[in-house]
Amino acid sequence: MSSRKLQYFGSQILRNSSRIIDISSELESLHSLISDMLEILGIENGLGLAAPQASENVRLFILNSEELNLNGHSIFINPEVTTSGPLHKDEEGCLSIPGIFEYVRRPSSASVTAFDLAGERFTLDLDDYSARAVQHENDHLDGILFVDRLSPLRKRLVKKQLFDIKREYGPGSRIL
Ligand SMILES: [Zn+2]
Repeated sequence: MSSRKLQYFGSQILRNSSRIIDISSELESLHSLISDMLEILGIENGLGLAAPQASENVRLFILNSEELNLNGHSIFINPEVTTSGPLHKDEEGCLSIPGIFEYVRRPSSASVTAFDLAGERFTLDLDDYSARAVQHENDHLDGILFVDRLSPLRKRLVKKQLFDIKREYGPGSRIL
């Protein structure tokens, strides 16, 4: 059983800006958070999860490195993302917004520099869905959700579903 709850649309934690992690003193304390995040990701069969989704406002996300082309990396601490290339549209979903899958426009390439759990800094130059996944997770650290990036028309169309998620999964309503 994970001690941290998956946060759903409507939770204030998903809207906060997350703080930078002190690499020199906090790495050890991240183990339990990452273990809970891996558990949530496994239970929900997700592609990625950002720390705020697991109730912690720190700059960290994990990605499923078996499904994405990330040169074996799955843990991204204090990531810095730079995007480039033309905008591409592809479908996204989010464990915090169950049942909604929408096309989102994002730059096709992304360069990410982050620290791993050993405190080593690494940089990856990504394309396609891996670039998209990193941008989606990085958005979470700034309190941005993929539904924020929809056109006004699509936003209106998912409004009712978002309201239902808020009502059904509202803060504290579900414990993993
Ligand atoms: Zn998400």
